[in-house]
Amino acid sequence: MRQTLLSLMAVLMMALTMTAQDKVTKTVLELGRTDNRTMEHADYIARNIGGRPVGTHMLHHAEEWVISQFKSWGLEVTVQDAVTIGVGFDRGPWSGRLLSEDGFTLHFGTPAYTAGTRGPQKGKVYLEPKNQREFDRIKGALKGSWVLLETGATSGLAIDASPKADSTRAAQLAEGKEGSVLMYRQMVDAGVLGFIRPSKLPMQVLYNRAMCFDLTMDNLPKACDILLDEHQFAIIKQKAENREDFQLEFDIRNHFFQGPMVYHNILGVIKGSQYPDEYVMMGSHLDAYDIATGSTDDGQGVCVTMEAARLLAAAGAKPKRSIMFCIWTGEEYGLLGSKFFVENKTVPWDKISNYFNRDGGPLAATSITVPPAMYDDFVKACEPLKDYNPDIPFTVNKREGDPQPRPKTAGGSDHAYFQMNGIPAISFRESDVFGYDFIYRDIWHTEDDLYDKLIPEYMEHSAVVQAVTAYGLANLNHLLSREGLFKD
Ligand SMILES: [Zn+2]
Repeated sequence: MRQTLLSLMAVLMMALTMTAQDKVTKTVLELGRTDNRTMEHADYIARNIGGRPVGTHMLHHAEEWVISQFKSWGLEVTVQDAVTIGVGFDRGPWSGRLLSEDGFTLHFGTPAYTAGTRGPQKGKVYLEPKNQREFDRIKGALKGSWVLLETGATSGLAIDASPKADSTRAAQLAEGKEGSVLMYRQMVDAGVLGFIRPSKLPMQVLYNRAMCFDLTMDNLPKACDILLDEHQFAIIKQKAENREDFQLEFDIRNHFFQGPMVYHNILGVIKGSQYPDEYVMMGSHLDAYDIATGSTDDGQGVCVTMEAARLLAAAGAKPKRSIMFCIWTGEEYGLLGSKFFVENKTVPWDKISNYFNRDGGPLAATSITVPPAMYDDFVKACEPLKDYNPDIPFTVNKREGDPQPRPKTAGGSDHAYFQMNGIPAISFRESDVFGYDFIYRDIWHTEDDLYDKLIPEYMEHSAVVQAVTAYGLANLNHLLSREGLFKD
């Protein structure tokens, strides 16, 4: 009798848990349709905040906003110091003009952590001297002038002005490699206002990778580093070659200030009821380049991650294991935040079921491909998505063939350090289901990374997919199997 009673109670308990689970999922699906706030987050991050590289006050502002949002939804929030940079960098407006009878407004950008002009600066334009003889001919005129550098396609990074690069160039010149070596230090010492390089459109403008972490207030960059619309560059170059009488004027408000500036990973947690030390994780990076507003890279990812958190919190989710929502810092400067998190074992590596990264454009999460040993668990977790939106069907696929070797080097995005350390970091496949001609490459790291490139229906859908999947996995009786995850 007692036996029967106990098993009856067990069945009842299971049924109750099932109902509670179903109720949460149902609410998430319902809220996902009727009260999806993904684009509210996007509006704030892309339109109110905008560009937010490591080093800026804007990134701190964005952090504070994420923290307050997470807290207002009832998440437990941990703020982890992850990146410190000695000198801070903020950007004000920038403008420029070609001053001549047929003058025009200049279309340009400058990488973060490069020099501004300290007020409008007018100057003549010279072509880059290719050898000592050419340099000697103009060295007296270079002071207060702009120099055109005929580089090929640029990646948008600043010219490497580090002492190391200077000595490499000096050595090359000493070896007689004149003509192919930039006489950078000589021109700076001669007093140029700055350098102008041609840029393809849409303009891709990044940061001063070589120096930003080594700067002090005593060794700040002096010469501007301007990337100019290649069509305008061609016109100006022609004028300089014709020795026409004209000037360029730039007003670039790039400001350096004494740090240190510390940036944070923001970790929001819905605590697990049975296995609180085990985690299903998802994340995106908050830092973004500032030639535009970082709306797609990775504002959209942050908004989707945040909305997944909000939906689950609003639905009263109490999963068996914890769900962690990670808003990373310093991704663009080398995956710094997620690297710090993983390498410091913030969560022990064997306690992570899977980490889902979102950082690849504002597309719809439409499927996931997992190793055979995870397949049944994912099918179960994603079951509620089957009929959620018939226009954007969702499928779970079993990986065919052998696993890939575990990656040895970091690349891509914030999933890298998880994978390199053997932690599952399988992401959703995202696609342009309705064929809106979305090509991420056209936008990525460019001046076109703006709010109007976001695709609300895809992002809102993805927030629901991420919430439901994470919740389903967090409610399993076990962590996901790692069998056959990587080759080794
Ligand atoms: Zn990114």
